[in-house]
Amino acid sequence: MLRKGRLFTPGPTAILPAAQTAMAAFTAHHRTADFRALFTRVLADMKDFIGTENDVLVLSSSGTGVMEGAVANLTSPGDRVLVLTAGKFGERWRDLAKAYGCAVEVVSSPYGETFSLEAIGKKLAPDVRAVYVQATESSTGVRHDVKSIAKLVRGFGDNTLLIVDAITGLGTTHFDVDDWGIDVIIGGSQKALMIPPGLAYCAVSELAWMRMEETKSPRYYFDFRKERKAAAKGESAYTPATSLFAALGAALDFVREMGSGDLVAGRKALIDSAELAAEMTRAGAKALGLNLFAASAPAAALTAISAPGGVDSSAMVKEFHESFGAVVANGQGEMKGKLFRVAHLGYYDYLDTIGILAALEHVLARVSGTDVEYGTAVRAAQQVYAERISRDNRVTAVVST
Ligand SMILES: *Cc1c(COP(=O)(O)O)cnc(C)c1O
Repeated sequence: MLRKGRLFTPGPTAILPAAQTAMAAFTAHHRTADFRALFTRVLADMKDFIGTENDVLVLSSSGTGVMEGAVANLTSPGDRVLVLTAGKFGERWRDLAKAYGCAVEVVSSPYGETFSLEAIGKKLAPDVRAVYVQATESSTGVRHDVKSIAKLVRGFGDNTLLIVDAITGLGTTHFDVDDWGIDVIIGGSQKALMIPPGLAYCAVSELAWMRMEETKSPRYYFDFRKERKAAAKGESAYTPATSLFAALGAALDFVREMGSGDLVAGRKALIDSAELAAEMTRAGAKALGLNLFAASAPAAALTAISAPGGVDSSAMVKEFHESFGAVVANGQGEMKGKLFRVAHLGYYDYLDTIGILAALEHVLARVSGTDVEYGTAVRAAQQVYAERISRDNRVTAVVST
């Protein structure tokens, strides 16, 4: 049968067609009034997308670039920092902080689990200069409780900054960035924003701007102060990925449409959509007798599903691709072969969700050699959907392209 290539990976994600056209048509030079207008509009819209009054920066790099910037700009060599890690992206924070000479302390949890707030409380102290955490750990499918973590950190006063890698959290999780006191929250273009990789963004609090003035770590391209100054004039310090800004403008317009003209409402609708797709996916997987890898605190961004006993998830990933053109993600590092990850962040709808579950039924039958009652996962997901629709008394996301 014909196969359409589709990404179900937690980045890059499916691309919004309107963003693709906007990119292809875009030619403006970055030091022109046309580009400044686009840049200024995108930065203003990004505040609504993130849900903050803080300054937003959009840089041309992958997400890790801005993660590195959030270490270089906010810590000096020898600073005591606390990294909360429960997966591959948490480990990235740890390694980045070490690379910049921080005295790194760690609160860790096993893959597939989130942190005990008590353990975090024990490690916090007034001389901890920064706390680094993920909102959603994309390697395990876990959602961390950022609100409670922020409350703990804020209890230690203004010397301790909270930096959240929400690269798959933004657009899939409700945050109250300013009220909770998140000092830096980071996102990436290739996740819920539905555009290709190449832009990373963050919102920065006043406390964090003040910290940058005293920081001793070297910075150049990722000197956030330089970007802030340039942004005030509608520009980026260096050549920005101009066509990606055009794509981002189109993506933000799409989210605004999801909110019937209100970007904040659109962001909420996008999050609710991911949550519903995640709930459907979890119900489908469970109905097939599969175990969820992050059962206790599952993210809406993606669902990590353990391969059944005796089955290598690599074979499942391969089968998804070969039979259905669907790219799902394998486990990373030590988790390779043990689980597979299905993303639903950004441009994913009901048919994508039902389609990947229907494919899962075939993949499971083929790879595990067991009998699968076709329709099991699909039916469970449909039930979740039907219940939600009757509860909300409406079709969830009414948008077309
Ligand atoms: C995708 C992702 C990143 C960033 O990865 P890049 O490849 O540098 O864009 C960081 N953290 C999380 C949680 C992610 O999902």
